[in-house]
Amino acid sequence: MNPAELALYPFERPGTLAELCRTLSARAGRKEKTVLLAGGTDWIVERRLAPPEDPNDLPLVLDVSRLPELRGIAVAKEIATIGAAATFLEIRSHPVLSRRAPVLTAMARDVGAVQIQARGTLGGNLASASPAADGAAALMALDADVVLASIHGERRVPLTQFFTGYRATRRAEDEAIVRVEFTLPRTGAHQVWRKVGSRTAQAISKVALAAVAEVERGRGVRSGFGMASVAPVTVSLPTVRALGLAPSLASVSDEELDAATRRDISPIDDLRSTAAYRLHVASALVKGFFRELRTAAGS
Ligand SMILES: Cc1cc2nc3c(=O)[nH]c(=O)nc-3n(C[C@H](O)[C@H](O)[C@H](O)COP(=O)(O)OP(=O)(O)OC[C@H]3O[C@@H](n4cnc5c(N)ncnc54)[C@H](O)[C@@H]3O)c2cc1C
Repeated sequence: MNPAELALYPFERPGTLAELCRTLSARAGRKEKTVLLAGGTDWIVERRLAPPEDPNDLPLVLDVSRLPELRGIAVAKEIATIGAAATFLEIRSHPVLSRRAPVLTAMARDVGAVQIQARGTLGGNLASASPAADGAAALMALDADVVLASIHGERRVPLTQFFTGYRATRRAEDEAIVRVEFTLPRTGAHQVWRKVGSRTAQAISKVALAAVAEVERGRGVRSGFGMASVAPVTVSLPTVRALGLAPSLASVSDEELDAATRRDISPIDDLRSTAAYRLHVASALVKGFFRELRTAAGS
């Protein structure tokens, strides 16, 4: 989409979250189409691939990228709060997240390339609900909640329940994603981000794994996973996650991990890869993570 095409869309920039919610509510009530625009790295690209059917019935574009309530990253009392309009560049540069949630900062460094990181936001990543959403995978591993706002107030949805199907979420039409929140893993928690793609930059993954684990005396006490590009939505690998809480991680076998991974994912053949390759890599990544975990735990 070139700038002249973009200029055809009616455009507003609400000054506050309350104003945004009022506009969303009024337009949803009148069944008028509205689009929230943050970095535009998904929405503008998609308009190029799928231009509007009726140029006389364009949605109102509401720019949320500068809304104060959606900006910023804060850490207090072991809770990290990241505004929906925080960019990947802001996330990867955050000193506390780098130390305490390296799975997230490593993910942010891997999104697109620095130009996309400077524009793309976490809220846009979650709302787009792409099966290949890297931000969603890392936040799932961290057990994050998504906070949504409307004129009726805020509600909180665990990210593991946020995606309802291919590119579909629990966000209602009159709601905006305001922020995500998660409890920081404790210092020394084992965290990995592995993205397998065709090249280092500007590559959508063939498979990506985010994993966070805490182990006490050989027993798993925190276990979170997120995997991208292996199902219609980003998945939290519930069966693998349960194995991560085993009373003795040393007793979890590669065969069990392989079976659990196969149970939790449903990859397909597409432009980027094949289902068979994805199954193989997903299982290898999970087994590799547990191997590292057992070594770190000394078992
Ligand atoms: C070259 C290129 C490389 C890319 N590489 C990657 C990659 O490696 N990994 C990856 O995960 N993604 C990648 N992407 C996709 C994209 O950059 C990300 O998904 C990004 O996070 C989208 O954020 P945005 O702010 O640009 O969203 P936008 O395009 O502004 O919005 C996307 C969608 O989210 C909605 N939305 C935005 N903010 C909110 C909000 N606060 N509340 C509710 N809805 C909202 C919009 O209405 C729209 O439907 C890439 C894109 C490009 C063009």
